[in-house]
Order: sequence, then structure tokens, then C-alpha cells
Amino acid sequence: MLRAGVVAVQGDVSEHAAAIRRAGAAHGEEVEVIEIRQSGHVADCDVLLLPGGESTAISRLLEREGIDEEIREHVAADKPVLATCAGLIVASSDAKDERVDTLDLLDVTVDRNAFGRQVDSFEAPLDVAGFSEPFPAVFIRAPVIDEVGDGVEVLAEWDGSPVAVRDGPVVATAFHPELTDDSRIHDLAFFDDLAVEA
Ligand code: GLN
Repeated sequence: MLRAGVVAVQGDVSEHAAAIRRAGAAHGEEVEVIEIRQSGHVADCDVLLLPGGESTAISRLLEREGIDEEIREHVAADKPVLATCAGLIVASSDAKDERVDTLDLLDVTVDRNAFGRQVDSFEAPLDVAGFSEPFPAVFIRAPVIDEVGDGVEVLAEWDGSPVAVRDGPVVATAFHPELTDDSRIHDLAFFDDLAVEA
């Protein structure tokens, strides 16, 4: 039984809950989803998802509820996190926007809405390191990762910028892997490592 916490203060929570259940089922693993709206629940979770939504709101609510520190402790304990879109912005080390108090879970800086200024949303077949077929990546007012630190592995790029990265236990994407039936990004974030540990 895998206990997956979906940070549910704001954003597309139910889609991530469904995606992690699908990924679990494909691995013969039952998944209990815990929706996290208050402090006191992160420590019960094996893995965490930080959904997309609005990063300013997510950041403010995490701090208000005291969940921010619990997420940092989860990562410090080397437990997996998947952060998507606004989740990536919140997880980054710098969003260059004073309204977003980033969690500094991974060593990247981001530019909010960088794609969004040109085009609101689009879907693209994305080559991801280790995937034999392209991943159908849905970008919605997506951030661009503009700087990555030394320890960060770039898993995919679009238009010359990283859009999927891994830094230790944290996998982050500028796009929304939970909006397609393809659960390979959730596999990569959660089940590869668990398989290795087992
Ligand atoms: N542009 C949004 C933000 O800055 C993120 C959009 C999304 O999560 N789809 O928070």
C-alpha cells in the first residue's frame, strides 16, 4: 500500500489523485490518496504530489497552513515528490516573483507564464529521457525553467528550455502529466525509485 499525499490547498487535485491510482494499478500497488489541506498529514505520506493551479495562491496557503515546512522535511528525508506546473514554480529555488515564496525543493529557477505570454496552452509530443515513445505533454500557461543547478538532471526540453527535471527525490514538470491517460511521468517519479528500494 502506497500512501500518496496530494497537496490540495488549490489546483487540479482530482486529476492527480486519479493519475497516481492508475500508475499504482499498473504496478499492482494499491494507492491510498490523502488530500492535504492542513498540517499534520504530510508525515503519513510515502510520496507527495504538488499539482498545478495558481502558484501565488498555493504558496500563500502552504505557508498559512504550515504545510510548507512539512514538505521540506519530506524531501529532506529523501521521499519522492512530483511537482507539476504551478507545483514546479512553488517547488523551485526562485520564481523571480515576490508573491511566490518558493519551497526550494529543487535547484532550478523558473520564469512564470513564460510560454503563456505567447500562447495560452498547447499539447506537444515530448521526448523524455528513458521513454521509448514521446510523451503527450499538455502545457497550460506553463513556466519555463531558465536555470538548473549542477545536481539537476534535465529529462526533457521544449524549444531549448528544460521542461522536465529531476533533483534527487523531486521530479518536476512544466506541463501537466495528470491530464492524459499516460502515467509514465508518475511511474518515473514514484515507482522507479520504489522498485529500486524494494
Ligand atoms: N501560470 C500559473 C502560475 O504561475 C501556472 C499554471 C498551471 O499550473 N497550469 O501559477
